[in-house]
Amino acid sequence: MTNIKAKFLGGMVGSALGDAIGELAFRYPKKESLYIQLDRLEELRYTDDSAMSIGLAESIIKKGCLDQQDLGETFRYNYEREPWRGYASGPPTIFSMVEQLSITYADAARNLFGGTGSFGNGAAMRIVPVGLFFHNAPDLYEKACMSASVTHAHPVGMDGAAVQARAVSLAVKLDPREEFPRKVFIDTLIDFAITPKMEEKMQLVQKLLSSDTTPSFAAEQLGRTVDVHESLPFALYSFLCHPKSYEDCLFCATLNGGDRDTLGAMACAISGAYLGIESIPQSWRQKLENRSHIEDLALKLSEIRPF
Ligand SMILES: [Mg+2]
Repeated sequence: MTNIKAKFLGGMVGSALGDAIGELAFRYPKKESLYIQLDRLEELRYTDDSAMSIGLAESIIKKGCLDQQDLGETFRYNYEREPWRGYASGPPTIFSMVEQLSITYADAARNLFGGTGSFGNGAAMRIVPVGLFFHNAPDLYEKACMSASVTHAHPVGMDGAAVQARAVSLAVKLDPREEFPRKVFIDTLIDFAITPKMEEKMQLVQKLLSSDTTPSFAAEQLGRTVDVHESLPFALYSFLCHPKSYEDCLFCATLNGGDRDTLGAMACAISGAYLGIESIPQSWRQKLENRSHIEDLALKLSEIRPF
């Protein structure tokens, strides 16, 4: 397997497993009890995070690019088939607005929250296909915003998604056999962010990494809610604390409270894209729900990528 294929597979499968195991951690919030479940369960089931990553990958593959209307339609089709995946209220509200008012998905998304749009973490949680497919694109920020604004129109919602896409793109390009360039990585993300809210939080990530602190303290300082500036920074922190271990990154992201499935999906997308598919425990990979479809999407993305 080529390096790039292993990384695309690592990003897609890694994110879905972070989501599935993070969801499980709501019920089993201690490592010991979580391990028992990971052994016991025959299938690891993902939530809306991965359902939407899958939709994003499907749409990119179908169109060969980002097409907002097709992306909205794909999200809606997948939601209607599996509405029980744990979606927040945003997507179904947008879908019914599109239906009733005959407007675009992006216009509907702009109408949410009294016209400010959402700054939830829903655009960042699903963005791994964009970070993989466009990892060399000079306009990655714009591509990320295009994929985000179908549901998340607030500048912070889009900025968070763009930072996560950039983190995945950096992870794809770095060689895991070399020393991990932590400072360059975080500095690049701070530069990439546009909104003061995201920028300040990323600076706090950097400060917490260089001080001797516990993950639970970092999680409290950074936040771990469904707002993107209150959870993406801790997902990044989890990866940056454990760049050489998928498993340690996952447990850090999902065992410190908050929006566990999405923290897992975001942190593990970066970890998988950096370390590659082989870094993910095989017993977990084998149990991932819908694994062959997710792997197939990852491989197709790697084959048709533009650069
Ligand atoms: Mg979820």
